[in-house]
Parts: sequence; C-alpha cells; structure tokens
Amino acid sequence: MSTPITHDVTTVPRKLDTDAKPNLIGLGRDALKAAFAEIGTPEKQLKMRVNQVWGWMYQKGVTSFSDMTNLSKDFRAVLEEHFQITRPEIITRQISADGTRKYLLRIAGGHEVEAVYIPETNRGTLCISSQIGCTLTCPFCHTGTQKLVRNLTAGEIVNQILITRDDLEEWGKPAGDKRLISNIVLMGMGEPLYNTDNVRDAMLIAMDNEGISLSRRRITLSTSGVVPEIIRAGAEIGCMLAISFHATTDEVRDVLVPINRKHKIAELLQACRDYPRLSNSERITFEYVMLKDVNDSDADARRLVKLISGIPAKINLIPFNPWPGSPYDRSDWDRIEAFAEIVNDAGYASPIRTPRGEDIMAACGQLKSATERQRKSAKKIAQETGM
Ligand code: SAH
Ligand code: SF4
Repeated sequence: MSTPITHDVTTVPRKLDTDAKPNLIGLGRDALKAAFAEIGTPEKQLKMRVNQVWGWMYQKGVTSFSDMTNLSKDFRAVLEEHFQITRPEIITRQISADGTRKYLLRIAGGHEVEAVYIPETNRGTLCISSQIGCTLTCPFCHTGTQKLVRNLTAGEIVNQILITRDDLEEWGKPAGDKRLISNIVLMGMGEPLYNTDNVRDAMLIAMDNEGISLSRRRITLSTSGVVPEIIRAGAEIGCMLAISFHATTDEVRDVLVPINRKHKIAELLQACRDYPRLSNSERITFEYVMLKDVNDSDADARRLVKLISGIPAKINLIPFNPWPGSPYDRSDWDRIEAFAEIVNDAGYASPIRTPRGEDIMAACGQLKSATERQRKSAKKIAQETGM
C-alpha cells in the first residue's frame, strides 16, 4: 500500500467562489446569453460570444478571462469586471496504490465534497458527488451517516469534472475512449435525484458537443429509487441509469434502502421498465451490495433475477466496503461467486466490482467529508476516555 500523497494545490492563489461576482461555470448556454446581455453585449453578438467563452471554459479549461485571446481586450475587461471563472479549492488529493485519486474540495460556505477518479485499462471513470451528505440513511453507507448539509449547485457539480481535468492535464484532447476521463458516474456523495435540476443542468454541460462533450451513454446516474424523479431524469437528462437495489423483498429493502418505504420494489421496477431507450445496448445497472447473511443467499439471487425479468439489465455486485463503526460484514468471496453464478446463469452479466481506492477510503460508500470524520472520531475519543 503506498502512502497517500497530499498534493498542495492550495498554495496557488485562487479566488474563492464566495466572491460576489457570479461564477460562469455551471451556467447553461441560455443563462450565459442572458448574463452577457445584461452587461450590454449587443444582441447580434450574443451567440458568438457565448460560443467563444464556452469553448475557452470547457474545451481549453482556462480559468482567467485574460487567457481568452480571441476576445477583444475591452470585452475581456468587461467580463472580468462582472464575472469570475472559479474552481473550488483542492484541500487534499490522495492517490491510492491502485492509481485511484480522491479529491477533497472546499466549496462556498467552507463545505467539503469528494470526487474520485478511477483509472482502468480502457477507460477512466470520474465518480462525482451531487450533495454534501445525504438525507437518506441507508445503514450500510458511510455518506448516509452524515447529515445533509446542502445540495451542490450545477457549477459545483461541473467543477468536479474541470478540476480533475486540470489535475490530469487533459485539456484540449478529443472526445472518446482515449480520454483519461471517458466516463462519469453520479455515485459519490448524495442522492442525485434529490437534486435533479442542478444535476441535469450540470450533465447538459458535460454532454454539450462544443465543450466536455461526453456522450450521454458514458454518464451513469445512480439512485436509491426516487421514482418520480427517475421519470424526469429519463426525459430531461437521458443518461444511463443505475439503481441501488440491494434487496429482493420489501421487508429487507425497507431497512437497507429506507426510501423503499415510500416507493416499493414493484413501483421502482415499473419506472425501470418505462425508462426511455431501454434496450440491450442501453441496459439498466442494478447495484447490489453484498452483505454477509443479510441479502446474499441463493434464494436472494433467484428472487432477484425473477424480479427484474424482462428488463435489459446488468447486475453489479459490490462487495461491502467497511468503514469505521459499520454495522455489516462483507459476504465471503465464495458466497459472492455463487450468487454471481445464479445471476449469470439467468442470462445477466454480473460483474463483481473490485473495490478501488480502499486504502484512501475512496471506495463505494466510504465517502464522507473529512471534517465530519474528524468530528466523529473526536467524539468517539471523548466517549472512550469519559471526557
Ligand atoms: N445515493 C445514490 C448515489 C450513491 S451511489 C445511490 O444510493 O444510488 C453509491 C453506491 O455505493 C450505491 O449503490 C450505494 O448503495 C453503494 N454503497 C454505499 N455504501 C456502500 C458500502 N459501504 N459498500 C459498498 N457499496 C456501498
Ligand atoms: Fe444516500 Fe445513496 Fe448512501 Fe443511501 S446509499 S445513504 S441514498 S448516498
């Protein structure tokens, strides 16, 4: 295991995004147009100006108006006077022995948020957060033990991509497989479908062809099952869908994924069946965390394939990633394989997700702001020492 490296980017002077000037990152094309009109840009120039600034921000990744060299000096000065292009501050960057990178970012209000970059042989996936903490309280999830602080803005969501591209020095490269960030998963902190509008606005920016230009098929949104919002996500984002399924009876799912008390398995699966463009090339991913003696029996595996029958799907088996104080154990490897075999025999791909970045607490369900972690451990120490 390598020693995590702390990367001190904070010495680079940066304006904080608490600055009064609006940040252009995160504004869609229409909002940018409106903002430029407000500062007196002539109507007939608006589209061109938006395209130019868009290209600088999302294709070249510049962070200063003075670098936008195809704009007149005067226009650059006006932009500078009214707006900013600001990234959050990187508090730490840790690199795992397996190459996974975890960024801890400080955003407006001093809150902290994590993003994780996972390099693989033929792709690189960036796992981004949509909220600080989570209001849902799935008992196996570390993020769920942290109270919701707030939703992230569209800019804060997009900025997780931009900051990672800065760090990987990936600006100006063409779209596609060869990119270091070829895929995005909304599987970090928070429930993206409790922040649908901002997630949508951010993903529309990520998908825009003149900018980051990631295909909607390379973006996967994971939800615990906010049924009405799944329907909206299908219509308004159109990205790939992953469902945190985790149990095969309402009784068990009510405990493991408490939103199930509101939207039962049958209702959730109906929303999946109705998801747009569902086909063998656009399958739904069902995530299934393997918890020893809780949801990992052969009977569970059989019930699972019966439930999802007819839905083009892939089952992602996630060995439980423990965290300090977690109330569950990871299923034994033999059990996970036996479960996978039943699912596989029923005709579904059932990859077992190798935990990535465990040594830096970057694996699924381990994310939680560091300050929160420290607070908890301080509390624990106080309890242990009777102080
Ligand atoms: N809130 C959304 C997005 C988070 S995705 C959702 O729940 O879908 C994070 C994924 O990791 C989810 O499938 C979640 O259930 C899973 N997960 C959470 N804690 C975990 C843990 N300790 N070990 C393995 N997977 C976990
Ligand atoms: Fe929230 Fe998802 Fe964790 Fe559940 S699994 S607590 S919905 S982040």
